[in-house]
Amino acid sequence: MEVGADPSAEATELAGLLRTAESAVALTGAGISVPSGIPDFRTPGEGLWEKVDPFEVATIEAFRSDPKRFWEFYRPRFATLGGKEPNPAHQALVELERRDLLAGVITQNIDRLHAKAGTKRLIEVHGSIATLSCLGCGTSWALDEVESLFNEDGIATCTECLGPVKPDVVLFGEMLPEEAMAEAQELAMGADLMLCIGSSLEVHPVAGLPELTLARGGKLAIISKGSTPYDSAATIRMNGDVVEDLEAVLGALTISE
Ligand code: ZN
Repeated sequence: MEVGADPSAEATELAGLLRTAESAVALTGAGISVPSGIPDFRTPGEGLWEKVDPFEVATIEAFRSDPKRFWEFYRPRFATLGGKEPNPAHQALVELERRDLLAGVITQNIDRLHAKAGTKRLIEVHGSIATLSCLGCGTSWALDEVESLFNEDGIATCTECLGPVKPDVVLFGEMLPEEAMAEAQELAMGADLMLCIGSSLEVHPVAGLPELTLARGGKLAIISKGSTPYDSAATIRMNGDVVEDLEAVLGALTISE
């Protein structure tokens, strides 16, 4: 990781906030995984999402009513996401946690790249592609076993009870897991600094988390391209390349040590 580069004023200021914060937490969205080659589906004309409307296909209704179509969409997506690797932005958050400067990471991403990078306290509020479960008997499988579950119609089916197998991700139309959301809220309320990285902060209820940190007098640092509803409330606002911005922050921390 490149250190010692000339850090921007914002990076230096954020490094200072991280050093003095009692409890800093990161909230991440699709933007942190773009450098890993996973396009943000909110960016028009990008990759996987280009030909289908995820709001139509990646829904719990579609999973129940037309599992063949659901899996036609999800099966290649699983294969593509399964091969992706964490990038230096994910690794920067692992490094902050290792230095006791970050209490945990809350993510909207299902790509399990934070886990793969080595983040220890990780709350995946939209679930993760890491596992799949049978809705009938609860049997669970790892991502690399998924191909063995498809029947001749291309529908993932339980090997024990022939029930439907669903990725452990929150599909459109599903509630977020209560336990994960409660833990995320607790972290946000306990944080005096929240780093919002690569998220447009527009998808609720996750978009309400920065409000909890602000309400208890905490500060926001936003590292994201494009505008967010919290821009005017943020103490730090960086909108460059997410990898470069986080490496500049790490560089500033190293310089000041
Ligand atoms: Zn089963």
